[in-house]
Amino acid sequence: MATSTQFKAMAALHPKEKLQLWEYEPTPLGDRDLELKITHNGLCHTDIHMRDDDWGVSQFPLVAGHEVVGIVTDVGSQVTSFKKGDRVGFGWIRDSCRVCYHCLQGEENICRQGYTGLIVGNHGGFANRMRACADFAYKIPDALDSASAAPLLCAGITVYTPLRTYIKYPAMKVGIVGIGGLGHLAIKFARAMGAQVTAFSSSSDKETEAYEFGAHHFHRWGTSETLEEVKGSLDLLICTSSAELDWDLTFSLLGNNGVLCFLGIPVSSINIPLIPLIFGQKSVVGSVVGGRRFMQEMLDFAALNQIKPMIETMPLSQVNEAMNKVIANQARYRIVLVSENK
Ligand SMILES: [Zn+2]
Ligand SMILES: [Zn+2]
Repeated sequence: MATSTQFKAMAALHPKEKLQLWEYEPTPLGDRDLELKITHNGLCHTDIHMRDDDWGVSQFPLVAGHEVVGIVTDVGSQVTSFKKGDRVGFGWIRDSCRVCYHCLQGEENICRQGYTGLIVGNHGGFANRMRACADFAYKIPDALDSASAAPLLCAGITVYTPLRTYIKYPAMKVGIVGIGGLGHLAIKFARAMGAQVTAFSSSSDKETEAYEFGAHHFHRWGTSETLEEVKGSLDLLICTSSAELDWDLTFSLLGNNGVLCFLGIPVSSINIPLIPLIFGQKSVVGSVVGGRRFMQEMLDFAALNQIKPMIETMPLSQVNEAMNKVIANQARYRIVLVSENK
């Protein structure tokens, strides 16, 4: 009798192991849960960190996948916001306390109690089915295809949140360091928000693409001399790179009131020069994914402006090859795993 409800997943049975086909009995559908037939998953580097238990929070067998798009196949008795057949997505956050100050602002990503990650202690999207609370599901707008929508649910919201927070006026000067999964989306969103966008990359072969994504200017990341004309000009500089940079140089690109925002974790700490920080009223901030307030807005904004990630699709059965490609930095710029779902 149980066999009919078994979910088929690609799971890591132990840390650092290849993913393999694994079946599990899902927890009963809760009153507020949705069940999805999964069609697409964006592959995020975090899935690989979770597979390898890099942060010590993974539980095995681990079913990763937290940029999940699928079709609703069942709804709990209390669910009013979705119905069978709806196309929905889930991102990195599965749940939060919902009552702290930040949750009440729609900033579940900085919940005082700490949010619950979609794949921390729960099974995620690398499967044929998934169950999770409907309150953290998002409607995928009709104008976004599912493959394009998937990476928006983690990579998209990660760049949208700081851009939405710190872009204060049209033509504001926004710099994006690193043109990868996050950076290329940041260029597209910043451009659509009306910013004057400068893209920085250590590889000059990204220049043409940077302009195609919407950058107004491109600079090869290099020395103080090569970046001389940008110095002291940027209102917002978003660092998506996980490579270590020259922080004095990075900081010197900010204009007065400028904000340096970290999304990646290239090093555990940096030295900030206090004199220019104080006398230029500059800020150094961090940002992590995003809450419910911005999530649906981001999807609707992306649909309206046709902001889509550059993706390549691979079948879910090739998830191990896809992970190797991400590790080798060969994904351009996001791999979307397509479920062969019966
Ligand atoms: Zn992610
Ligand atoms: Zn909270």
